[in-house]
Amino acid sequence: MPELPEVEALAHHLREHALYRPVARVDVATMSGVKTFDPPVSELVGRVVTGAARYGKFLSVEFLDRVDGDGNPAGLHLVTHLSRAGWLRWHDTASVTPPKPGRGPLELRVHLDHVGGPGFDLTEAGTQKRLAVYLVHDPQEVPGIARLGPDALALSRDEFGALLAGRTERIKTLLVEQTVMAGVGNAYSDEILHTAKLSPYAVTGRLKAAQLDVLHAAMRSVLTDAVERSVGHNAAELKGEKRSGLRVHARNGLPCPVCGDTVREVSFTTKSFQYCPGCQTGGTPLADRRLSRLVR
Ligand SMILES: [Zn+2]
Repeated sequence: MPELPEVEALAHHLREHALYRPVARVDVATMSGVKTFDPPVSELVGRVVTGAARYGKFLSVEFLDRVDGDGNPAGLHLVTHLSRAGWLRWHDTASVTPPKPGRGPLELRVHLDHVGGPGFDLTEAGTQKRLAVYLVHDPQEVPGIARLGPDALALSRDEFGALLAGRTERIKTLLVEQTVMAGVGNAYSDEILHTAKLSPYAVTGRLKAAQLDVLHAAMRSVLTDAVERSVGHNAAELKGEKRSGLRVHARNGLPCPVCGDTVREVSFTTKSFQYCPGCQTGGTPLADRRLSRLVR
């Protein structure tokens, strides 16, 4: 699932390639992916892309062709939340034939300039269709955006400390809680905790000031490094770029590039996370509920 760095890179890519291009047609392949019905997506036809923005892990393509009563830009925002297997793909040419509903990964296609011309696809591989698209006048109309906490990259050390103070969740759980702090997901929280040499199970509110210093610095460096690596890459190359920069996430059983210990995993029903015992838990593996149940 794309997180802050990849969504930032996708927004950057759209600003470089889609800006000032008019929408020629919108193909909706999976109606259930479009969560709003008023205005309809056909409202976009003839409107010009004026920008792209990121809200946490949400991506917004902007069509701001008016000014409101206060003189601020106004218009429509095509907002998407790319789910686990979701992605935005840029194309220089596209089929003029509308896609058949429910076939293949394509969810929504936007033709720019002319039908069959350049544009972008929102796709989702896999059978569980969770990609969500919203066409709204204000991004705050999207429930997931209205609930977002401050952006992870916008937090000063003091603001970060204030958000974490007194929280009883494990730090791994808290870092991905979008209502507390927006933008970090499963992959980068693994990387941030590894860089900070903190156990994923550490209780948030019990972290010492020095640990919070290190954690805040790790969050900034992991995210900004990933943004720098990602921006400028084609949307198609971003997944590979993300993977190549990871040190523990999705590397179960491989050696830690810092200490050489074997990266380990804790699994839940629908997800898992990875960490290095040597760097993060004093060499002791964390209890894996799935494994301990098997042993018992
Ligand atoms: Zn290590």
